[in-house]
Amino acid sequence: MTHIMQLYNRYPIDLIEGDGVYVKDTKGRKYLDFCSGIATNCLGHSHPALLKTLRVQSKKIIHTSNLFRSHLAEGVASTLCDTSFAECVFFCNSGTEAIETAIKIVRRYAHRRSLSATPEIITFENAFHGRSMGAISASGKGTEGFAPLLPGFRQARFNDIDSVKALINENTTGILIEPVQGEGGIVIAKKGFLQQLRALCDKNDILLVFDEIQTGIGRSGKLWAHQNYHVDPDVMTSAKGLGGGFPIGAVLATKDACSGMTIGSHGSTFGGNPLAMAMASTVLDNVLNTPLLEHVRDVSAYFIDKLTTIKQIRAIRSLGLLVGVTVDPPITNTAMATACSQNGLLAVRANNNTLRFLPPLIVERHHVDEAIKKIKIAVKNSQEKNI
Ligand code: PLP
Repeated sequence: MTHIMQLYNRYPIDLIEGDGVYVKDTKGRKYLDFCSGIATNCLGHSHPALLKTLRVQSKKIIHTSNLFRSHLAEGVASTLCDTSFAECVFFCNSGTEAIETAIKIVRRYAHRRSLSATPEIITFENAFHGRSMGAISASGKGTEGFAPLLPGFRQARFNDIDSVKALINENTTGILIEPVQGEGGIVIAKKGFLQQLRALCDKNDILLVFDEIQTGIGRSGKLWAHQNYHVDPDVMTSAKGLGGGFPIGAVLATKDACSGMTIGSHGSTFGGNPLAMAMASTVLDNVLNTPLLEHVRDVSAYFIDKLTTIKQIRAIRSLGLLVGVTVDPPITNTAMATACSQNGLLAVRANNNTLRFLPPLIVERHHVDEAIKKIKIAVKNSQEKNI
């Protein structure tokens, strides 16, 4: 009997060791990890640079406080700004906290400029932004039994600019969107859509907020997914891959967008602590100063090419190593995920009967070959069981 609150349908797999793209469970079974902590272990498991950073930094100092200056946090913030649209960064501990901060930034922007006393943010159907009251109110998902929700959100349809235009009114201060809906089933923003949103925001003094918690840190083949679209937001959330497995969150913004965030208006005990910052710095160094992004694009193309040879796969949606597949009915994503795990391949379910493959970015072509064999067996096994 477990004393863990029952909030997840967990696989009966207790992972205790990891090396590169492989993990091992308590029974000694080895798995190819195409889940990577849900797009988090971007450098794989037990990456030597991350292990070294953990060892070295924890010997120096683990935690201080935001009451004190931190050259480590300043270093990570300047790398993030030098490589993006942003001019300032707030550090926190998770994606959800980053979303909360982004919502506060938008509201303070409206307040500071006397734009609206009841600011509204447009979000999208099928979105996922986390589990806090603000995040579930924004995405409209997982809200049952949690009323009253946070007011001030209206939902448009993804990839439908007219549905966004129809919601704009004098209170609209922000548009919050994932460039690729991850939990939603790897639903990719159309090329022109983000550009149209940018133009709408510019015209109406609205802040454009990208949630890159799942899509950022190289997963799309660029450092940030929106860089594939040549559109910059005003505010952006990051987490997951930024810590390479160490809990972290960040919000990046232009100076103008976060001009309302004055001293005392927001904060965090742990956000930006030295250990988290040292880990983020090592992740960024490995993503930015090695050929990793090019590698992601190469392995992604190879993976998609191989997936297309599996005839039972009905649809493949992908950007870099965010890969979603739908299999012919009656095979479900749950059946496929289970069959994959029984064959030593870990994958993640998503909305709309999608199975997500989110391998570490260091995955090689031969790992893809191994995964494809396992996926083929999983399809066959699922068909035989007729699930
Ligand atoms: N936003 C997106 C796009 C996500 O994919 C997630 C997590 O899956 C979150 C927000 C929430 O992040 P966290 O689980 O770190 O709070």
